[in-house]
Amino acid sequence: MIGYISSYNSFATMEGPGIRFAIFMSGCNLRCAYCHNPETWPQGKPYDSDELYKLIVRYKPYFRNGGGVTFSGGEPLTQPDFLIELASRLKESGIHIAMDTSCGILGDKQKRLYELCDLILADLKFHTPQGYNDYCKGDVFGTVIETFRYLNEKNIPVWLRTVIVPEINDTPEDIDKYYAVIKDFGNIEKYELKPFHTMGFSKYAELNIPNLLEGAEGMDMAKLDALRARLDSLMKREIQV
Ligand code: SF4
Repeated sequence: MIGYISSYNSFATMEGPGIRFAIFMSGCNLRCAYCHNPETWPQGKPYDSDELYKLIVRYKPYFRNGGGVTFSGGEPLTQPDFLIELASRLKESGIHIAMDTSCGILGDKQKRLYELCDLILADLKFHTPQGYNDYCKGDVFGTVIETFRYLNEKNIPVWLRTVIVPEINDTPEDIDKYYAVIKDFGNIEKYELKPFHTMGFSKYAELNIPNLLEGAEGMDMAKLDALRARLDSLMKREIQV
C-alpha cells in the first residue's frame, strides 16, 4: 500500500522514549496558526508500506531504552489505512509504536490505528472549541475530548503536551482550564507545556504560506516556568487526594 511521507529520521531522540525511527507523514487537517512544520502540509513522496517496513526493521538493533517507531507529521490520522498496515507488521516484529497526533479525527480506522500503538504523544491545543476555531482550520475540540475518552477506556498510555503561545493561552487561568479538561483521564502519564518559538517562521516565507502570527514573539521562559509550576502543583494535588 502507498502512503505519503514528508520525511523520516532513522535516529530520532525527541519523538518519544529511546532512539526511534520517526516518520513524518504528509498532510494535516488542522493547519494551526503556530505550526512549526508547514512543509508537511502538501502531499509528500509516495512510499510503499512493505519497503518502509523492511527499511525500519534494519534499525531494530538501535531501538534501545524503550525505543521504536514514531508516526508523526503532519497528521498521521489522515492516512490510517497505510499506517494500520505498517503498524500491524511492526507489532508482529515486536517493535514499540508511538504516534504523535493532535487527536482531531476519530472514526473506526483511527480507533484501529490507536489500538496498534503502545504510546500516544497527544496535543491538547486549546481548552475550548473557540480556540480551535480561531487558530486551527476548524473546531475539533469535541473530537479531541472523545479521543481522550476512547484512549482512557482502552488504557492506551498518553504523553500530553500543550504549546503555550504569548497572548493566546499563557495565563494561569488557562492552565487551570487545561487541567480541568484532562484531570479525569488516568492514562495520561505526562503533561508537558512547550514554548512557542519563531524558528519555523522562515519556512512560511519559503513556502509562500501566509503566517498568521507574523510579528509574534517567542514564549518568555520565566513565564513558562511559572505556568509549569502551576500545572505541576495541580497534578500533584490530584495524586494526593
Ligand atoms: S496539527 Fe501539528 S502538523 Fe498539523 S498544523 Fe497543527 S501543529 Fe502543524
